[in-house]
Amino acid sequence: MRKNIVAGNWKMNNDLPQTEALIDGLKSQTQTSNAEVMIAPTFTNLWHAFEELRQSKIEVIAQNMHFAENGAYTGEVSASMLKSVGIQTVILGHSERRAYFNETDQLLAKKVDAALANDMRVIFCFGEELADRKSGNEESVVENQIKNALFHLEGSAFKNIVLAYEPVWAIGTGETASPEQAQDMHAFIRKTLDSKYGSEVADNMTILYGGSVKPNNANEIFSKPDVDGGLIGGASLKAEDFFAIVNAF
Ligand code: PEP
Repeated sequence: MRKNIVAGNWKMNNDLPQTEALIDGLKSQTQTSNAEVMIAPTFTNLWHAFEELRQSKIEVIAQNMHFAENGAYTGEVSASMLKSVGIQTVILGHSERRAYFNETDQLLAKKVDAALANDMRVIFCFGEELADRKSGNEESVVENQIKNALFHLEGSAFKNIVLAYEPVWAIGTGETASPEQAQDMHAFIRKTLDSKYGSEVADNMTILYGGSVKPNNANEIFSKPDVDGGLIGGASLKAEDFFAIVNAF
């Protein structure tokens, strides 16, 4: 079912004391919207964050995982390891993973399969680079990212997938896609899903926008009919800003 979700991606920020302080800040906020709220701390703080927020409505999620169950993959973390510390949802395909860690659509397809096989929910990220948009290729780039990583799945698998459209040129840059640009792309994503899986999958898909969402622009972006929420980077590191975005619904 289509939902409103606001997820904070903390990236490689916040050691344990900072995580504790930010969680205290989050706990002191009042939620006035119905959005599902999630935060993604670093691996080392997941268990602590999960325990701290166990009684709250904030879900603790992971920023990444490996596709293998276990084995000789030094430095990696598997789906079952995440699940063993209470994590049910994982972000996959973030543009920073694609750009700095060479994650391809083919690798991401394997990660998606592993997460779903472990009954996890996936927030699958994709989005065009500035050059793609300048050359008018943003739709074909996005279409290929979705097709390559997800179109091997059965339609029923999509109930455990959330899509996050994140134009790379808008991430951490302070430059946001206009609400109209976000709406146009989200409508195109829904059309792409419809053409392969039909309207039930397309209409029920939760599609988040990510890219410099802040308290002062969230309301306008979230007011667009095909924008179901946001994946928030920088502004998720301040409890007040994050909850101003959560409450923008
Ligand atoms: C992100 O990293 O997913 C993101 C959207 O970052 P920011 O909000 O800082 O642009």
